[in-house]
Amino acid sequence: MEGCIVVLLGPPGSGKGTQGKLLQDMFDWPQISTGDILRDMSKSDTPLGSHIREVQASGNLVSDQVLAQVVRERTSKSDCKEGFILDGYPRTIKQAQDLEQLAREKSKAVRVVAVDVEEEVLFNRLTGRRSCTSCREIYNVYLKPPIREGYCDKCGSALMQREDDKPEVIKNRLEAYRKNTSPLWDYFGSDIIVVDGQNPPEQVFEDIVKQLEEVVAGDNH
Ligand SMILES: [Zn+2]
Repeated sequence: MEGCIVVLLGPPGSGKGTQGKLLQDMFDWPQISTGDILRDMSKSDTPLGSHIREVQASGNLVSDQVLAQVVRERTSKSDCKEGFILDGYPRTIKQAQDLEQLAREKSKAVRVVAVDVEEEVLFNRLTGRRSCTSCREIYNVYLKPPIREGYCDKCGSALMQREDDKPEVIKNRLEAYRKNTSPLWDYFGSDIIVVDGQNPPEQVFEDIVKQLEEVVAGDNH
């Protein structure tokens, strides 16, 4: 398939990380998470690194302008030449516009893929998560229960529910996600490729690839 810039949209628990990984493996385009880059950069001894440290220490979000610069630098590396996959970016209209500008410069198309999952299903997926207190293996009481309830299959230690996975927190996270991304849905509108994230991951992936190929074919007419 022709190289492009894939933007993955999906709420927590939608499995979009898994889809990004599968896309990366299939097309050999790197999956780029701005969160990871910022974490790495904040440890570096550069002006940008120290700027990011300062902003984060003050509890603020890194500005759209700095993020655009971060994305620009990362995607100028040779592994992004064919295409790349963005996870967690863009989050605002301004960021979406910056990305489109970058895409024009690179003569690449931006394809937005949204992994859609019903709220109730997300809620169960997320609140069902348990992790091993010792080896960190992840379980899910609904989707991937341990053989012995409450204990890790691998090492036998007790499983726990992280604070992040408690129902109240999940409810807030899902609400925040909806609120934060609705402008992007309006912005990209009918160009968004929507896939049903309630299907098994392999099927979701097939669907993404098929729809991406259809869009590319459509562009060439
Ligand atoms: Zn364990």
